[in-house]
Amino acid sequence: MSEMFDLSVDLLRRESVTPEDAGCQDVIASLLSSAGFTIEHMPFGDVKNLYAHHGTGDTLLFVGHTDVVPPGEGWTSPPFEPTIRDGYLYGRGTADMKVSVAGFVLAARDFVLANPSHNGRVAILVTSDEEGVALDGIRKVADVFRERRENLTWCITGEPSSTSSLGDLLRVGRRGSLSATMTVHGVQGHVAYPEKAKNPIHHVMSALAELTSRVWDDGYETFPATSLQISNFVSGTGANNVIPGSAEVQFNLRYNPHWNAAALRAEIESLFDRHNVTRDIHWHESGEPFYTPEGTLRSACRSVLTAFTGTAPVESTGGGTSDARFIAPLGVECVEIGPVNATIHQVDERIALSELEALPSLYGALISRLLS
Ligand SMILES: [Zn+2]
Repeated sequence: MSEMFDLSVDLLRRESVTPEDAGCQDVIASLLSSAGFTIEHMPFGDVKNLYAHHGTGDTLLFVGHTDVVPPGEGWTSPPFEPTIRDGYLYGRGTADMKVSVAGFVLAARDFVLANPSHNGRVAILVTSDEEGVALDGIRKVADVFRERRENLTWCITGEPSSTSSLGDLLRVGRRGSLSATMTVHGVQGHVAYPEKAKNPIHHVMSALAELTSRVWDDGYETFPATSLQISNFVSGTGANNVIPGSAEVQFNLRYNPHWNAAALRAEIESLFDRHNVTRDIHWHESGEPFYTPEGTLRSACRSVLTAFTGTAPVESTGGGTSDARFIAPLGVECVEIGPVNATIHQVDERIALSELEALPSLYGALISRLLS
């Protein structure tokens, strides 16, 4: 088997459920340092982050994660014992995303060995907390980068972005995500004496009606319209003769670059003010949206993917969030290119062996295109 296969299997055997790294980053660091890369370990809390780079000048950064989601029950073969069946390699992390990490690590190393005095700089950043709360991962590293004015030009995240075959989709942006947990305060009492109580459900209903019927925008470039969904609404004591003292509401917004978290928060707080809702709101900002317009990175990626697959990729802004949300605000052009995402987070997660073997050459072509 190939070095790519062996490295993938080595990483996949390690039970690195978030925030565990289980030694994955040490394997990567030793591979890259032996090729002359500068290595920086950047741990925060329980989370390990590894930054490696070679060269100077315009920088192409690859971003990925060595952690995986818990395997769950019902696998056909053990989730941490990578197994080949019918042309696929099965195991937790095959698609999301240890194999693509192995792919860009080998591609970067081989590029540097073949072109020791290459143009620009090639860099790799991996974290052990992308799948979890993601507080001590790329978010913290990005803070350090901002502070020390790290020179970054382009970023390729190896997240599983492809739909049915490797390279059929180029992710050029992602929506932002903002969540709120709100406690609405009322006064508990007997339903027969409403004048002595204050019903928090009645109190918040008109505000929520306005909130959920609001049109936020009509989309942005290829982004869908911003949307708000109430995910939980809990109130009441269970008795039919008690006005509850409080109500708890949770909602989430997925938003396009028309908005940022601060503007949405201000808008929503003022809506609740207008309705005189007595409340405490805890906001959680998962990440601002990003969008990479036409430019050097997009056009380089488009032509490499077109040559690789024989057809131009779909250029999309769909899907959930990824760590590019922390790199893009540094003023870096960001895209995502990675394996087929059909089985990510599922039981029997897998990657086609042909796709596994092709990843280093795909990433290698991107590096040559941008740094030669
Ligand atoms: Zn992932």
